[in-house]
Amino acid sequence: MSSTESAFGGMFRQLIELGVIEINTEPLDARIERRLKQFWENTSCPRCGHQSIMTWEKHDRVRCRNCEFKPVYTHGTPFHEKHLSCGEVLLAFTLYADTLLSINQIAPLLGRAYKTVHTAIREAEAAVQR
Ligand SMILES: [Zn+2]
Repeated sequence: MSSTESAFGGMFRQLIELGVIEINTEPLDARIERRLKQFWENTSCPRCGHQSIMTWEKHDRVRCRNCEFKPVYTHGTPFHEKHLSCGEVLLAFTLYADTLLSINQIAPLLGRAYKTVHTAIREAEAAVQR
């Protein structure tokens, strides 16, 4: 790691500890949702194998026209069934996996409880290892 990066890391950590930075992941959440739905439209149904999945902008569920399988759009992804939004999972995991920050530092950054972030990271880690 270069000295520039560690200086930035140190400054970043300090700002978080001071409570200066709190991140709003809503734009990121919306982008991940759009990308996952695009993915569904271009992939085959995990139940019947047909490429006939439909998505809607306003709906959390996608639907297979062939077999009526209706999973939520996060089904089968590391974002599935988390108490965090997609953007929060991604951000928390990225910061943690790159060992930039500890969970103690990530939780206030997202305005979330330690346990919520801890669980999401552990599950994302398990999903990545699979
Ligand atoms: Zn199907």
